[in-house]
Amino acid sequence: MSEKGRDVNRQNDRYKEKEEKKEEPELTGNDNPIDNDNPVRPLSFDEYIGQTKLKENLLIFINSSKKRKSLSGRYDMDHLLFFGPPGLGKTTLATIIAKELGVNIKTASGPSIEKSGDIAALLSSANDGDIIFIDEIHRLPKPAAEMLYPAMEDFRLDIIIGEGPGAKSIRISLPHFTLVGATTRAGLVPSPLRDRFGYSARLAYYNPEELCQIVIRSSFIYGYKIEQLAAMEIARRSRGTPRIANRILRRLRDYAAHLGQNAITLEVARYGINGLGIDELGLDENDKLFLLTIINKFAGGPVGVDTVAQAMNEEKGTIEEVLEPYLVTCGLISRTKKGRIATDLAYKHFGLIRENSLF
Ligand code: ADP
Repeated sequence: MSEKGRDVNRQNDRYKEKEEKKEEPELTGNDNPIDNDNPVRPLSFDEYIGQTKLKENLLIFINSSKKRKSLSGRYDMDHLLFFGPPGLGKTTLATIIAKELGVNIKTASGPSIEKSGDIAALLSSANDGDIIFIDEIHRLPKPAAEMLYPAMEDFRLDIIIGEGPGAKSIRISLPHFTLVGATTRAGLVPSPLRDRFGYSARLAYYNPEELCQIVIRSSFIYGYKIEQLAAMEIARRSRGTPRIANRILRRLRDYAAHLGQNAITLEVARYGINGLGIDELGLDENDKLFLLTIINKFAGGPVGVDTVAQAMNEEKGTIEEVLEPYLVTCGLISRTKKGRIATDLAYKHFGLIRENSLF
């Protein structure tokens, strides 16, 4: 195998490792890094629940690109950027888009691309029309991101060979690929890169009705029996996130077995979800620790995120990308110029009273 092929395989291996960690190994275990590793991942827009406006737009872009392709013979689907917290369906959308367009998808993630040569290998291994999916695109090293600019705009790569006065620049033409970028931190995507995407969209948290449909669909695929009320209970307590809903569902299968039940009933759901340390609002131990750290150690704030991260012994990135967006949506945290503040609602949630009410 060529060095280029090995590079792409290495990227895919690393990506697969990450995917398996996200989705739990016992339910994955296929060679394909995205498509078949997860039986509940939707394969079409019909199966993809919620995000209605975004789906409508994507269908318009896909259908019109397909029409133009049938007239001119050329692929011209524009690059797409999806942003939003983890587990909301960005990767899934990329795979559905590839399927709808009838093209292949190649995957990589920002941190797995160490040097510009990795980007060169990834792009030049694509065929005309292919989707190149880069997860966590905000974590691409700068030289790799810079190499993407001419590639996205003019489908060419300029590669410098050698160093000093003897260095030579070689230009390589690329196939017309479509880059689909995903990020949990749109603000960290450098603006020249962001500007080169033809369409950017934020994925919203799902409402309980949508999550309930997702849970029922997943139960059917896994072959679990579940009561409608139990599905709704999972939906209410999944932080608006399909990945979390599916994860809770799988754990409830264990609680059902433990309780000697052959179905996930409302009683099993409540017992199991409480056992997992998830509260009525869907907050898990980490969410609670974050809020209580601000309340107990910093008098409710304002406090800088670095300081809270240190006090919690948690990564700042996890706080900003995973914890905060949902807590802000629930109105439990307020982000101000001076720092993070736990709102009155947060105090109320824990049955506490703030001495000097701010809100
Ligand atoms: P992200 O890339 O945003 O982290 P994924 O696309 O990997 O999220 O989605 C996580 C999991 O959640 C998927 O494997 C799928 O099972 C489920 N999922 C995500 N979005 C939807 C949806 N709209 N409908 C049904 N299931 C979904």
